[in-house]
Amino acid sequence: MNAASSEKNIPDYDMVDETDACPKCGQRDIDRLVWIDDDRVECQTCGTVYKPGEQEGGNHASNEA
Ligand SMILES: [Zn+2]
Repeated sequence: MNAASSEKNIPDYDMVDETDACPKCGQRDIDRLVWIDDDRVECQTCGTVYKPGEQEGGNHASNEA
């Protein structure tokens, strides 16, 4: 077993993955995120419709000058 702390397996049975969370309010409660489409989810908290797991290219701080 690896003693590294790279394992983040929190038992979030009622929470979606961080990448699937609402991009607006950060909602992760699976009961508040309703599938309205094949790949789109509507946040019942703020009404935002988004594609889970799709990161909006914007805040990627790699080697951007
Ligand atoms: Zn939301």
